[in-house]
Amino acid sequence: MRRYLTLFLSIFLFISAQAQKIQSPAEFLGYKLGERFTPHYRIVDYFKYIAQSSKNVKLQQYGSTNEGRPLLVVFIASDDNINRLEDIRKNNLRLAGIESGTANALTPAIVWLSYNVHGNEPSSSEAAMQTLFDLVDPATAKTKEYLKNTVVVIDPCLNPDGRERYVNFYNSVRGIAGDANPASREHMEPWPGGRVNHYYFDLNRDWAWQTQQESQARVGFYNQWLPQVHVDFHEQGVNAPYYFAPAAEPFHKVISHWQREFQTTIGKNNAKYFDRNGWMYFTKEEFDLLYPSYGDTYPLYNGSIGMTYEQAGISAGLAVVKHDGDTLTLADRILHHYTTGMSTVEIASANAPKLIGEFKKFFDNSISDPPGEYKGYVVKNDNLDNIKALAKLLDRNGIQYGFGGPKGLSGFNYFNNKTETFNVDANDMVIDAHQPKAVLLNVLFEPKTFVADSNTYDITAWALPYAYGLKTYGLKVSVKPQFAKMTIDRDMDTPASPYAYVCEWKSMQDVQFLAALLKMNIKVRYSEKPFEEGGKQFAAGSLIIARAGNKQPDFDELVTSTAYHLGCLLSRLASGFVDKGNDLGSSSIRYINKPSVMLVAGDGVSSGSMGEVWQLFEQQIGYPVTVVRLQDLNRIKLSDFDVIILPDGSYGNAPFEKLQNWVNEGGKLIAMENAASTLVDKKGFSVKNKEDKKADKDDKKAAPVEEVKSYDNRDRESLRSSIPGAIYRVNIDNTHPLGFGLPDFYYTLKLNDELFEFLGDDGWNVGTISKDAYVAGFVGQKTKAKLSKGMVLGVQNAGHGSIIYMADDPLFRSFWQNGKLLFSNAVFMVGK
Ligand SMILES: [Zn+2]
Repeated sequence: MRRYLTLFLSIFLFISAQAQKIQSPAEFLGYKLGERFTPHYRIVDYFKYIAQSSKNVKLQQYGSTNEGRPLLVVFIASDDNINRLEDIRKNNLRLAGIESGTANALTPAIVWLSYNVHGNEPSSSEAAMQTLFDLVDPATAKTKEYLKNTVVVIDPCLNPDGRERYVNFYNSVRGIAGDANPASREHMEPWPGGRVNHYYFDLNRDWAWQTQQESQARVGFYNQWLPQVHVDFHEQGVNAPYYFAPAAEPFHKVISHWQREFQTTIGKNNAKYFDRNGWMYFTKEEFDLLYPSYGDTYPLYNGSIGMTYEQAGISAGLAVVKHDGDTLTLADRILHHYTTGMSTVEIASANAPKLIGEFKKFFDNSISDPPGEYKGYVVKNDNLDNIKALAKLLDRNGIQYGFGGPKGLSGFNYFNNKTETFNVDANDMVIDAHQPKAVLLNVLFEPKTFVADSNTYDITAWALPYAYGLKTYGLKVSVKPQFAKMTIDRDMDTPASPYAYVCEWKSMQDVQFLAALLKMNIKVRYSEKPFEEGGKQFAAGSLIIARAGNKQPDFDELVTSTAYHLGCLLSRLASGFVDKGNDLGSSSIRYINKPSVMLVAGDGVSSGSMGEVWQLFEQQIGYPVTVVRLQDLNRIKLSDFDVIILPDGSYGNAPFEKLQNWVNEGGKLIAMENAASTLVDKKGFSVKNKEDKKADKDDKKAAPVEEVKSYDNRDRESLRSSIPGAIYRVNIDNTHPLGFGLPDFYYTLKLNDELFEFLGDDGWNVGTISKDAYVAGFVGQKTKAKLSKGMVLGVQNAGHGSIIYMADDPLFRSFWQNGKLLFSNAVFMVGK
C-alpha cells in the first residue's frame, strides 16, 4: 500500500512540476541569449508565450509602430495583485491626485523597465526576456519575494522599427561567426542607422513632445500608470564602462531631494553586483537631468525615480575587440543589463512603502505649493490653431487648463520681458499651477531654464510660449480659468456660392488646407498685401480660392468640406471688388504653383534633419515628397522638380553647378543649416559667413593669450564656444512670403553659431538678428559675442528661381511648432 502511495505521490509531483514548468528564453527560442540577435517578432512571441503560461503575467498592447509592429508591455505581479491591476492603477492615480477618491497607501510600488528605445542598442531587448523569465520562473524564489509589494512593468522594445533596421542589417552582413575586429563592416552601420524610428526621430528626445506615433502611444499609456521607478535601458560606445544612476549635473532644480537620494540608493545596489563581478562602471558623469523629453527626466518630472542605464555596445555586433584588448560580447551586454534590471526591482521592493509615500508627497506638494516663479499662466489667443495645438500637447501630458478669467491681472510678458497689466479674454488659455502636473508644467513653461554653467548633453531652452509663438504671461499668483472649453463661432457667412473663398494663413491647419486643395487640383492664390472687405481684414498671405478657373462641378462642396474637416475658417466674398487694398484680379494676387518637391537624403545628409522634413510632409502637411539620394543628384533630371530641399548635412561633392543652373531656370532651392553654409563661396550663391571680428576681439579681451591655460579647465574652456541650443529673437520681414502669417518676430532655437552677412541687392533678408536678440538658454561667451547683427533667413533671387537660406532648423524635433509655418512658406509661398 505504502509503495502505491509513494508512486502516486511521485506521479502527482511530476505532473504539477510539468504544469509549472515555464520555458526559458533559450528553451523557447532554440539558442542561448547572446548567440544571435532575436528578431522583434520572436521577442513578441516569447512575451505572449509567458503571458499565456504564467498566471502572474498580463500582456497589453498599447499601440503599433509606423511600420505596423506591435508595441506592448507585460505586467508581472503576485497572485494577489495580478487580478486587481486596474484597482492598483486607479489607486496609484489617486495618490497623485489625478483620479478622484481616497487613495490607499498600502499599495505595491510600480517599477517600469523600458528597453531598446534606440534601435541599434539591441542588447537590452534580449535582457528583457531573461528578466521577465526570472521574475516568473517558479524555480527562482527570490523574485517572488520582490513581487509581494512590487508590480513590474516590462516594455521589451520601445522602437521595434529601429531595432529591426539594425538587426536585419547585422544579420545580412555577418559571417558564420561574428567578427570581433572593429574594422569589419558588420560594425559599420549604413545610413540612416537603427537608432531612430521610421521617420528618423530619436524617440529618447520625444517624451514630452510626443510628435511620433510610438511616443504618443507609449507616453499616453505611461501617464495612465505613473510608476514610482522608471529605467530606460541604453547602450553607448563600445569602450565605455557601464553607466547607472546617480546622474550627472546639471540637475533641473525641480528634482527633489528624495529623487536624488533614491537614485544614489539604487546606484549603490547596482554597484554591489558590479563590484562582486569585477565589472567596471561609472556614475555622476555625462548623463545630466535637464531636457524634459528623455526617458529619465520625463519620469522624474512626473514623480518617478527616472534613470538611464548605459551598457557599452553600439555597433558591437556579437563581439568586438575594445581598446584595452578585451572582447565585449553580446552575452556580456545582456548579463549587465539583466543584472541592473533585477537589482533595481530588488531595491525598489525593499523600499516600496517609502517609494509610495514620497510619490504621494511629490504630487501633494505640486498641488499645494507648485515649484517655480509663476503660479499661473495666461496664454493669449492670438492664433487659434496654435492654441489648439498647445492644448493638445498639454492634454497628452495630463496638464490641466481652461479658458477665460478675470480682468486687470499683472504678469510677466514673455515677449518683452516686462511685467504688465492685462485682461483675460474668454478664449485665452488659463493654467493654474496648483495641479498634479505642476512640476512638468513648470519645466515646460519657465521662460529661462535653470542651467548651471556646466556641460550638458542637450538643448537648454524650450519654453513653450516661444516654441508656439504665443504671447504668454507668467503670474505670481494662482489664477482660475472660467470655462472648460473655448467658445468659437464657426458659422460661415453667406453667400452660399461666393465669388471667392478666403482662408487666413497663420497655422499648420492652413498649410494642410492648401495642400489638400492643391492635391485636388483646385487653383489657389494668395494675396501679397493685406486687404479689407466686408469689415474683415485679411493679412498678407491669405489664401484666395476664386471660382474663376476652378471648373469642378462640386467646387464649393470640395472647398467647404475640406475646410470643415480641417477646422479652417473660411470667409466668403461676394465680389472681387474689395473695400481696401487690391482687388482679387490684381497682379498682387499671386497664383500658387502646385510644386513637385524633392527631398535629398542618404550618405552625408543628416538623417535627423531629413527625417523632420519627411515626417512633416507625410504626417503633418499631407503632401507628396520624392526622396532622392544625394549621390543620385548628378544623374537625374532636376527639371522634373520645382523645389529641392537640402537638409542639414555635409555636401562636399554635391553638383552645385547643376543645382545653380536649375535654380536659374526657375527652381527653388531650400538649404538648411550646414547645407546653407556649404553654399558660401560657391559660384552663383550669394550667401556669406558673417565675419566675427568682434567675437575674436572680445575673446582676446576675456582670455588674454598670455594667460596659461589650465589642463583641468579644458571643459570649461570649450564651453566658451558652445551653444547647446538656445532661444533667439529673430526680426521677421513679414511682408515677404517667407514671413507670411508670422508676426514681425519669430523665436528661433539656435543650435549652432551660424550667422550670415546680410544679402545685397539680389536678395531679401527676411529673418535677421540684432544686437540683443538672445532670449534664453546656455550660450558660451565667445558664441554670444558672435551672434549679433546678421541674417538667419534669406532669399536670393537667381535667374528665374530662388534660393532660401536657413541658418537654423525650424523643424527641430518637430516640437518647434512655430517653425513649421515658416518652413511651409519656403515650400509653397516663396518664388515667382
Ligand atoms: Zn541610447
